[in-house]
Amino acid sequence: MGKVLVLNASYEPLNITSWRRAIVLVIKGKAEGVEHNGKYIYANLPMPSVIRLRYYVRVPYKEIPLTRRNIFYRDAQTCQYCHYTGDALTLDHVHPRSRGGGDSWENLVTACVRCNVKKGNRTPKEANMPLGKIPRKPHSSLYFEVSKHLKRGIHPEWQKYVIGI
Ligand SMILES: [Zn+2]
Repeated sequence: MGKVLVLNASYEPLNITSWRRAIVLVIKGKAEGVEHNGKYIYANLPMPSVIRLRYYVRVPYKEIPLTRRNIFYRDAQTCQYCHYTGDALTLDHVHPRSRGGGDSWENLVTACVRCNVKKGNRTPKEANMPLGKIPRKPHSSLYFEVSKHLKRGIHPEWQKYVIGI
């Protein structure tokens, strides 16, 4: 049994919850099923994959920790210079640390060992190694979580509720 994407009354994604909790919300009338995965809990109760709350909830912004693991996730475990995927991945400072480049979502990218060494203390422009895409801070921790599921091919039906991933 999988996870369930919870939408706010406004259809914005709110969080990811267990199917048990989702079912309780539906049975209590606090949420409605929006997408189903074809399975049933009872004959008349389909297993939801996406539910929507009947009331609007305000959510505080949650910061996503800037960690090596999270940068790798954002970049889909792929070298941002040569598209290598594998185990030999490192973090590269786009603007070199030795020249004042800091640790930030915008200045850290996933790079393979070869590209990291080749680039050295140069900017992508100086090294003639353009980035595949501009590194950005992920939208929100929820979008980040959802994109992890989508990248692993789980819950493709969530895609249409998280535009921009
Ligand atoms: Zn590379």
